[in-house]
Amino acid sequence: MSLKIAVMPGDGIGVEIVAEAVKILNHFKNSGRLDIEMTEAPVGGAGYDAAGKPLPDETLALAKSCDAILFGAIGGVQYDRLPRELRPERGLLALRSELELFANLRPAILYPQLAEASSLKAEVVAGLDIMIVRELTGGIYFGEPRGIETDANGERKGFNTMVYKESEIDRISRIAFEIAMKRNKRLCSVDKANVLEVSELWREVVTKTAGDYPEVELSHMYVDNAAMQLVKWPKQFDVIVTKNMFGDILSDAAAMLTGSIGMLPSASLDANSRGMYEPIHGSAPDIAGKGIANPLATILSVAMMLRYSLDHAELADEIESAVGRVLDKGLRTADIMAAGCKQVGTEEMGEAVLAEL
Ligand code: NAD
Repeated sequence: MSLKIAVMPGDGIGVEIVAEAVKILNHFKNSGRLDIEMTEAPVGGAGYDAAGKPLPDETLALAKSCDAILFGAIGGVQYDRLPRELRPERGLLALRSELELFANLRPAILYPQLAEASSLKAEVVAGLDIMIVRELTGGIYFGEPRGIETDANGERKGFNTMVYKESEIDRISRIAFEIAMKRNKRLCSVDKANVLEVSELWREVVTKTAGDYPEVELSHMYVDNAAMQLVKWPKQFDVIVTKNMFGDILSDAAAMLTGSIGMLPSASLDANSRGMYEPIHGSAPDIAGKGIANPLATILSVAMMLRYSLDHAELADEIESAVGRVLDKGLRTADIMAAGCKQVGTEEMGEAVLAEL
C-alpha cells in the first residue's frame, strides 16, 4: 500500500520551497523507489482564506489519515489583525496537539562549506552536527494552573506551572535514546535539577530509562551551563534531550550557530513515528514571491521524513549528500551567499539538487 503524505505549503515562501521539496519526492516516486501518494491541503493563512480557519476540518482529517506531513511555513501581515484563534500560528499549534506530536527533533548541522556563515569562529562550528530533542506538548507551556490574578492588595501576579509526568519524560527520553543509537551513542539530558523538583524527577526518569540503552553514554547538564557550552564548544554534543521551554531556547541558539536559517529542517513525531516535517524558519514575508528563498531546509526536511517516518534512510542519505555536492559546486541562495560562489534562486537550487540525485 502506498505511503500517504499530506503536503501543506502554508503561506509566504512556504509555497515556493515546498514546491521544490515535492519535486524531490516525485523524483523518487517516478523512478519506482518510493511508493507514495501526496495530497495537498491549505493551512495557516491559506486555511483561513480557503475555509475560514487556520486548520480547516478537511486539512485535519487528511493529516490524521497520513503517514507523514510535509509542512512549509505559515504567517503573514494580512492575518495579524485577526482574532487570536483565527491566526495562522493556531493552525500549526492545533496540528501539533491534535496529532500528539510530542517529540520535536531539531538538528543543527553546519555543512563545512558554510562555516563562514556562522558568527562563531569557523573551527568552532565547521562540521557541527547536533540533534536537539525537545519535548513539545508538555511542561510550562501547557501546565495548569496558569493565569494572571489580582490579590487582596490589588497587586497582580502572573503564574505558570512546569509539570511533567513520569510517562511523558520516559517517552521523550526513549525517542532521544533511539536517535542516539543511530548516531554517535551519546545523549546529554539538560535540566535544572539543582533548583526545580520537576527537573529532579526528569533526571531520575531519564536515568532509569537509560537502563534499556546500555550502549548509549548518558550525561546530565544544567540548562545554564548547556547554553554556555553550546556557544563555547558545540561539537562536544551528539544528542541533547530537554523539556519544552529549555528546548525552545537552546534549539534556537543551536540553529544560529550555523548562521543559516534557510538550511535547517525539523521533525515533530508522535509515539508511532508518524510525523510532521518542516523547515525551522517562518514564511519570510519580506522575500515571499521573489523566488529567492532557500529551499534546502525543506528539502532536508524531506530527508528527515524518509529517515524517521517512511523507513527509507537510504534515500535520506542520498538527499543529504546531494545537498552537500550542490554546495561543493558553489551554488548559493542569497541567504548563504559568499564571495566566489554563484547566486541562484529557489527553483534553480531545487533543480540543482534534483540534478545531483
Ligand atoms: P522568518 O523565519 O519567516 O524570517 C526571518 C528572516 O529570515 C527573514 O529575513 C527572512 O527573509 C529570512 N528567511 C527565512 N527563511 C528563509 C529562507 N528559506 N531563505 C532565505 N531567507 C529566509 O521569521 P519572521 O520574519 O520572524 O516571521 C515571519 C512570519 O512567519 C510571521 O508571521 C511568523 O509568525 C511566521 N513564523 C512561522 C513559523 C512556522 O511556520 N513554523 C516559524 C516562525 C515564524
